[in-house]
Amino acid sequence: MLKQRTLKSLTRAVGVGLHSGQKVELTLRPAAPNTGIVFRRVDLPQPVDIPVRPSSVSDTRMASTISPGGDPGAPKVQTIEHLMSACAGLGLDNLYVDITADEVPILDGSSAAFVFLLQSAGIELQNAPKRFLKVKKQVEIREGEGARLMWARLEPYHGFKLTFEIDFGHPAVDATGQQVSFDMGSGRYKQEIARARTFGFTKDVEAMRARGLTLGGSMDNAIVIDDYRVLNSDGLRYDDEFAKHKILDAIGDLYVAGAPLLAAYTSFRGGHALNNKLLRKLLADETAFEYVSFEDEARAPAGFAQLAPAW
Ligand SMILES: [Zn+2]
Repeated sequence: MLKQRTLKSLTRAVGVGLHSGQKVELTLRPAAPNTGIVFRRVDLPQPVDIPVRPSSVSDTRMASTISPGGDPGAPKVQTIEHLMSACAGLGLDNLYVDITADEVPILDGSSAAFVFLLQSAGIELQNAPKRFLKVKKQVEIREGEGARLMWARLEPYHGFKLTFEIDFGHPAVDATGQQVSFDMGSGRYKQEIARARTFGFTKDVEAMRARGLTLGGSMDNAIVIDDYRVLNSDGLRYDDEFAKHKILDAIGDLYVAGAPLLAAYTSFRGGHALNNKLLRKLLADETAFEYVSFEDEARAPAGFAQLAPAW
């Protein structure tokens, strides 16, 4: 049987929120089978649990934000996508995330630090079948036209692979690899994807700060780009780091489904909002998906039976 996974022991991280700039402490704890991933705001007078599921997503403008029942007025946790991406990369099904503020720390802007933390705590197999969300027919979201066209699509596939194409019309970004494909079954999430950092343009920073966004952003946790070039003195970590970060985000955004997808995902210029709409469209059509488990591990997609496919 392909089994569910949680952590062996708890682990902690301290950092700042990218948007809020607030200091925040994160405690990642093991959880029982079938718990899923549950964020718990432990800084409130009464702790509030926010289970990760598509209907919990309450804002996707700059990052993926969740609240109980998706209620924007309820206590929230923002910027969950990089931690969710690391959990997907390591195949973690069940986890409590205790958090002391309303935003996950940005750390170095990638998911590499989360992968390291989770892996250091150790991964435990649980005596319950791992459940996958199998896509049975094509689902697509398409928005805008011409220079504003963007789309994202899910299609049936025995495994999980992603293809992302970016088009920012910016000299420094256009000079890098514009299209990336990644297959989770390769077991190379940590090497190929996890180190890709988030990025921002200096021309947007003033406006975003005026709206109270990116207050914690710096060259320590993002690639910063002016009108012509990357400003970070060390340059890029991958030749196609921008497109790879979009893959990292998509893996995290789609893991909000509450189960790993068996699907091929393709997107042109998509983002958090489009990814969430795609997931909601899939789940709104009962003929488009089914939940499956693998009693016989040999029938699972290649690479999925390893304890920690990211390594
Ligand atoms: Zn991101």
